[in-house]
Amino acid sequence: MPKKKITYIVAVCTLGLLFYLFWGPLFPWSPIKPGFQRIPSSKANVYIQNMTSSDSMVFQIDQILEDEEIFHQLNYKDRVTVIIADPKTSMKRFAPWLQGSGYSVSLSMLNLIYIGPIARQSSFGIKTYLKHELSHMLMDQNTSFRKALKMHDQGWLLEGVAQHFSGHHFYSRSEFIALCKTNQISFSSLNEQNPLDMSFPNLKLNYTYYQLFVDFLVDEYGLDALQNYIKQYIAEPDSYEQIFVNVYDNDLDMILDAFKTSLNI
Ligand SMILES: [Zn+2]
Repeated sequence: MPKKKITYIVAVCTLGLLFYLFWGPLFPWSPIKPGFQRIPSSKANVYIQNMTSSDSMVFQIDQILEDEEIFHQLNYKDRVTVIIADPKTSMKRFAPWLQGSGYSVSLSMLNLIYIGPIARQSSFGIKTYLKHELSHMLMDQNTSFRKALKMHDQGWLLEGVAQHFSGHHFYSRSEFIALCKTNQISFSSLNEQNPLDMSFPNLKLNYTYYQLFVDFLVDEYGLDALQNYIKQYIAEPDSYEQIFVNVYDNDLDMILDAFKTSLNI
């Protein structure tokens, strides 16, 4: 190959790499992050853009990580990087494949969490989104990649646990019951709706449904049982039904029935 052509290819690749590092999906690994403030933490790398006084919870990151470990009875295996984007930016810059989803996302393979602009603007505050994604990260770090993928089949458990821990209800219990009645929605199974359906209003309804079910499990059977179930489930996600029977002494469907009865739907 002519020397001129090689120089050209190297120059284009270098420019592309620099662009991706400073502006694109490689930004979390960029050695310098213009416009972002690094938050001191002994356990995570947290970077936030355009921080305001309402974001001061980021300084509680180490406490949040500790609370996650106590709640899930699991420990983080690797250091987590959290990128908290500007409230007015677009997530396409960081994660083009997400088509601009502006909430929050956990990329467990990369130990990376994005808190997006919609989460930044949300009245719930970024703490709830951060706690939610850190729950996913913690469970994924304590299993294999294959099993973490498998765990998505039981989206109700992942999202229900994350929502329960974050304390973030899209709808209150009474709002949820009213919405199910007016929209004639009858949930007969936890998997009836695709747990990965991220469209609205399905996502809000699904997440509230999963969260209320996990709330019910904790209220009726205690946090110990849920922690026990999580520990066994992440080790053998294929056996989720049998593990459920072993821990709760009842079929998942039977306890789901009792939960539905409690909701009076
Ligand atoms: Zn989630």
